[in-house]
Amino acid sequence: MGRAKDLLSFPLTAEFIQTIGGDEAVDLVKICLKKNGKCLDEDIEKEMKHLKITEIRSILNRLHYRGIACYNKTKNKNSGWYTYTWEIKKRRIIELILEQQSERLQKLEEKARFGESHAFFACKKACEETAFEIAAQYEFRCPECGEMMAPIDSAEKAKAVQEQITTLKQELDALQKAV
Ligand SMILES: [Zn+2]
Repeated sequence: MGRAKDLLSFPLTAEFIQTIGGDEAVDLVKICLKKNGKCLDEDIEKEMKHLKITEIRSILNRLHYRGIACYNKTKNKNSGWYTYTWEIKKRRIIELILEQQSERLQKLEEKARFGESHAFFACKKACEETAFEIAAQYEFRCPECGEMMAPIDSAEKAKAVQEQITTLKQELDALQKAV
């Protein structure tokens, strides 16, 4: 149970689940993880009374579509009804996040490289950072407010991007170790 809590305590995980399944998806995943692979529809319904069954189904379907939630279907011999037992695939969640974030990481690294080789300009209010070529077209007046633009300290900027890269790498590393 401690582990289940760990995975969702990562902002990256919570954010990702929310993107896939909507606002209620994080709570739903939490409920499923607590049941450790034996989560029945009823268990979710009981703990999410504020939602309609169709809403719960729709979240589960979205998670299932991405391989995050899997189910086992068993037929009740007496009633003839099917029971669904849900399981959350923690490994799959991490896999998908790593895939998504590696793209973000690549973009940050490109940005860092671009920043090192290009000069940027901004006004005092820092409305918008503008590459030299574009700033020159505006005759170094801010396209937003019309004030004069001056070169930005590119070392400072590169450092900020590098810090973002380092933080993201650390987060992804910790996430991989969570399961
Ligand atoms: Zn401005």
